[in-house]
Amino acid sequence: MVRRMRCQRWTLLLFLAGVWTCTPAEDSVKSRLYSHTESVSLPDNTNLAGIIIITIDTLRADVLGTYGHPRIQTPNLSELAEHGVLFQQAMAPSTTTTPSHASLFTSLYLQDHNVYSNFEALGNEPETIAEMLFGRGFATSAIVNMKHLNPEISNLGQGFQHIVRSGFMRKAGPSLDQLVRWLDHIGEQRFFSWVHLADVHTPYQPPPPYDRFYYHGDEKNPEITSLQDIWNFLPSHMSDHPFFLSWLRGIRDLDWVIGQYHGAVTYVDDEIGRLMDALEERELLNKTAIIVTSDHGESLGEHDLYFVHAGLYESTVRVPLIMYFPNSKHHGVVVHDVIETVDVLPTILEYLDLPSPETIRGRSLWPLIEGKAQPPRTAFIEHAGRNLIGLRTERYKYIKHRKTKHLLPSYPFIKGHEELYDLQDDPAELHNIAAQSPEIIREFREELERRTSKKLEYKTGEAKITPEMLDVLQALGYIQ
Ligand SMILES: [Zn+2]
Repeated sequence: MVRRMRCQRWTLLLFLAGVWTCTPAEDSVKSRLYSHTESVSLPDNTNLAGIIIITIDTLRADVLGTYGHPRIQTPNLSELAEHGVLFQQAMAPSTTTTPSHASLFTSLYLQDHNVYSNFEALGNEPETIAEMLFGRGFATSAIVNMKHLNPEISNLGQGFQHIVRSGFMRKAGPSLDQLVRWLDHIGEQRFFSWVHLADVHTPYQPPPPYDRFYYHGDEKNPEITSLQDIWNFLPSHMSDHPFFLSWLRGIRDLDWVIGQYHGAVTYVDDEIGRLMDALEERELLNKTAIIVTSDHGESLGEHDLYFVHAGLYESTVRVPLIMYFPNSKHHGVVVHDVIETVDVLPTILEYLDLPSPETIRGRSLWPLIEGKAQPPRTAFIEHAGRNLIGLRTERYKYIKHRKTKHLLPSYPFIKGHEELYDLQDDPAELHNIAAQSPEIIREFREELERRTSKKLEYKTGEAKITPEMLDVLQALGYIQ
């Protein structure tokens, strides 16, 4: 706790001075977290109080300090990573909220659970991690902050005894306070909690002082035209929507918008730090496994895509994944292999010494955490609405367009079109080398055929969507 308070104070002072130096690496004060030093294969979970999984909606990996961002302050997530495991190349199965969360909680791909949009519901047949743990005596709770994640629409409430529903984008602070109140309520029972945070989704609206952490100009200066200049790149359902227009009314500077996203990242990190303080006060911090990830990233201008998570580029599919297991000798571990967020479920189950269902797609990450070489993985990624499908290896990204659609002015989908990027030489995915790489393309086509021929095709559930919800989904860019 001492460490975080000191860092926060310095952060504010240095912010006022326009200087940033308070990084976890420079802060030598002892962390609140400590780790087991005996040689054990898996962490000793006999004293485990519970598991918290936090999904920070729309958080791309590369904006976190712990993933190497030079300016954005995320000292609390860095602290978790330094005492846990950080996955450098974690891939989301989709770039849309409900499908991606459905995959996280079932360890199934979209083509298996069949949830391809935010107005579809997970079926009852696939077993979720919450159902598995509730069935084994865990107290379970979920806090969600988007209406389409509410149980009557997403059916992602399966297995959760206590659900704090979304009104409309509750901020991280009150959301995590709800979690602490629930932990106080359940007493000694082992728990599994999911907290979904929406602060870094549009409209990015971090509270003061975070709104000025990374932007120091005059966002309404009439001489600035940078936001106007990109306005035509926005999909019409966003640029014409009253919700979007009211957020950006009077704003002229594109950098302000991006600064709000970055500020929201630091705000969420500070609130996670406050949660860690609350856990420490209750002597729970070193008995609680904490997993932080996201459902997808966000485009902040890459490929002329602004404030959307459409497409399958790295900005939208590479997500953070930090796993902190108390009493673990595996602290400060960085895994560079390509992995997928469908791997989270079997990793939790192995930690709890529970068997994984045979039908799941993910694999336990424990061998990688323990430093054992594993065969290279190919991540399988599907776009909402079945528009695109992609494969991601250590070196390449392959994207196939499945439909012709003009949703995004700067990125038309053209049925049959293929994209191939060499991420080693071209990490920004600017040069499509599909035409000059017939052998590599052939291999990816065969792999795609193998993957799509094995789908499980569960029935989806019934999403109860009101007219008001349709408007919200449209405002968020999910319905055209
Ligand atoms: Zn999302």
